[in-house]
Amino acid sequence: MSEVGAGDIEASLADGCPFAIGIDIGGTKIAAGVVASDGMIIENTLIPTPQHDDGPAVLRSLLSLIGEMRARHECVQAIGVGAAGLVDWPDGQVRWAPNISYRELPLQELLRHHTGLPAVVENDANAAAWAEACLGAGAGHRDVIVLTVGTGLGGGLILDGMLRRGQTGIGAEVGHVIVDPDGGLQCGCGVVGCLEARASGTALGRAGRAAAATEPTGLLATLAGGAEHVTGETVYQAACLGDATARQLFDQLGYWLGVGIASLVTLFDPEVVIVGGGLVTAEDLLLHPTRSAFERFVFARAHRTLPPIRPAKLGTDAGIIGSALLALSTAKLGPL
Ligand SMILES: [Zn+2]
Repeated sequence: MSEVGAGDIEASLADGCPFAIGIDIGGTKIAAGVVASDGMIIENTLIPTPQHDDGPAVLRSLLSLIGEMRARHECVQAIGVGAAGLVDWPDGQVRWAPNISYRELPLQELLRHHTGLPAVVENDANAAAWAEACLGAGAGHRDVIVLTVGTGLGGGLILDGMLRRGQTGIGAEVGHVIVDPDGGLQCGCGVVGCLEARASGTALGRAGRAAAATEPTGLLATLAGGAEHVTGETVYQAACLGDATARQLFDQLGYWLGVGIASLVTLFDPEVVIVGGGLVTAEDLLLHPTRSAFERFVFARAHRTLPPIRPAKLGTDAGIIGSALLALSTAKLGPL
């Protein structure tokens, strides 16, 4: 979704189209936008996530952003937040996040109290998945699985048209299903064997450093200025230049992603699987081996119609759009 011109904004206002503020809290950046109920972003902004502080600093930043946006857009009627980390549902309490210092923060309650508006706080991956399912590559479908391959591996499950979170909100952690318990790779969550430890930007960087160490004069080590500096981005650059080692690493990444998708499709039988995140810009470099492994491992391959695996459409806007849509939907102001 791109920003719209003034004419479109006026048209939305004339229609009485309700707006919500959608906010996506990540480890380094907070993205926020004023979003119409059709998903159109009217205005957006980006600020750094407060570091070396706890919940109050994050709350102050959010309230300041919200105050500025409401001053410019009087018809904002709800607040939606997608927060990185473990978020309780339906209380919207942020329990913990690996890269942000907030702990046990009753963010939803605090936002309602300080703004006087309906507010919803959701896990960030769920919010982004909801946007993709409603308005992105899953539009028109009711059973959608979304996987986001970034630094980690996030995602969400939309089943029978509803976002599925489990009993407390921390379900649908697709990156932490166990696929390789004997492989020796520890995930960021502390467990050995998670899908994320095999299929993420972090996993690609780690595999890239190991490969570059055996080829010190190869393209990976050369691009990065040394094997120890190779990242997932380096592997992507080298693969785009046709480097055989880098392409093999993408094949491995796609293989594991396909293994994970096969299990998820076997469990949930969705209409479509969407793959998003920074690495999906690699398109077929990633999705071709993913589809091959998926077709190899999915249950009853010969007797079923396979769901398509599609790249996500909304990019980094998915978090703010999904948060805003969830806020409007919960406040019974949106069409969803
Ligand atoms: Zn894990």
